[in-house]
Amino acid sequence: MSLAVIPQAAPGLRFARYRTEIDEAIARVIAGGHYILGPAVETFETAFSAWLGIEHCIGVSSGTDALSLALRALGVGPGDEVITTSLTAAGTGLAILHCGAEPVFVDVHPTTRCIDPLAVEAAIGPRTAAILPVHLFGQAANMPALMEIAARHGLAVVEDCAQAHGTTIDGRKVGTFGNAAAFSFYPTKNLGAIGDGGAIVTNDPALAAKVRALRCYGWQDAERISASAGFNARLDELQAAVLLVLLPHVEEGNRERRTLAAEYRRNLDSCGAGLPDDDAGAVYHQFAVACEQREALARYLLTQESIHTTVHFFPALHEQPVFLRAGQARLPVTEKLSRQLLSLPIQPEVAAPCISRLTDAVKRGMDRCRKS
Ligand SMILES: *Cc1c(COP(=O)(O)O)cnc(C)c1O
Repeated sequence: MSLAVIPQAAPGLRFARYRTEIDEAIARVIAGGHYILGPAVETFETAFSAWLGIEHCIGVSSGTDALSLALRALGVGPGDEVITTSLTAAGTGLAILHCGAEPVFVDVHPTTRCIDPLAVEAAIGPRTAAILPVHLFGQAANMPALMEIAARHGLAVVEDCAQAHGTTIDGRKVGTFGNAAAFSFYPTKNLGAIGDGGAIVTNDPALAAKVRALRCYGWQDAERISASAGFNARLDELQAAVLLVLLPHVEEGNRERRTLAAEYRRNLDSCGAGLPDDDAGAVYHQFAVACEQREALARYLLTQESIHTTVHFFPALHEQPVFLRAGQARLPVTEKLSRQLLSLPIQPEVAAPCISRLTDAVKRGMDRCRKS
C-alpha cells in the first residue's frame, strides 16, 4: 500500500511487518520473570556475533555508550586524542568526550563520504591513541588502509558501525576489522529496536571482559563486587527479544535497500545530483544525494510531492558548540557535503511500494533546481 505522505523513515511499519513474532517475544520476556541481562540478551549476543563472524558481543544501552565503553576498555582517556570524522551523528564525537579524550576531526573522502586515510595519517601526533572511522550511510570506510596506518603507528581502531549492519568489504563484514566495533539499534537503523540499544563486538577476550564489567557497575564476576567505576549501560532484555526477532530479517532488508538504491541510481544518473558510490558491499542505511540547492529540493519534495527528506548531518560536528576547539583545521569536503547532502526515503517498508513515485518526484525537483 502506498502512502499519501511519504515519511523519510517509519520504523513502526517494520515492527508492524513482524508484529506477531514481536508480540510473542515480548510476552515470553514478561512471563519469563528475568528482566535484566537474562536469556534474551545472552541469546542475542551469541546470534549477533555468529552473524557477524566475530568472537564476542556485549549488548549495551545505545550506540553512543557502545563507542565510549569500547574506547574506555582500550584505555583511552584524558590527555588522549582520537582521530575521527566530523560528518557523523553527535554520538560519535560525544563518546570520545565521555571518556575524557579529545576528538580530532579530519576530512572525508569525497566519494565514499567516509574518513580519508590520508587525512588520518597527516593528523597523527604524540597524543593520538585511536582512530574511529564511521561507515557512513551503510558504505564502508577504507578499513584495509586504516588498519595498515594503525598498525604502523601502534594505534587502536574502533569502528562505528551504527549505520552499517551487514556492510561488507570483499565479503567480510565491517565491525570485524578494528580492535572493537560499536553498533546502534536505534529504531531507524537497519537493525533497530523499539527503543534504544547497542552492542560492542571484538575478537579480544580481555577487552570483552572489560566491557562486560563496564556496562554493569564494574562487576568483574558473579560476586557482584565493583572493581571499577562501571556504569549502568546494559541492553534491555525486552529490546534483546525484539532484536532476536528482527536479526534473521536484516539480510533481506539490506537486499531490498540495495534494489531501491539501484532504482534511484538508474533514474537519477543524469539529474545533476551527486549520488553515493556504487559499492556492492553497501547496505544503504541512507541514500543521500548531494544537491547545491538542497533547501529548495527538500521544500519542493515536501510541499509539491508530499515526500519527507532528512539532512544528515548539518552542522558537521567540528562546527557544533561542544566540539569547538582551537586549532581545528577547516574540512572543505565535509563542510561542502554537510551543506549539500539530502537523505531520501529508502527504508524498504516506506520506499518499496512507491519507488517510481519517489524517483519521478526527485527528478522533477532536480529539474526545478536547475532552472531556478
Ligand atoms: C545512530 C548513530 C550513533 C549513535 O547511536 P545511538 O544508539 O543513538 O546512541 C553513532 N554513530 C552513528 C554514525 C550513528 O548513526
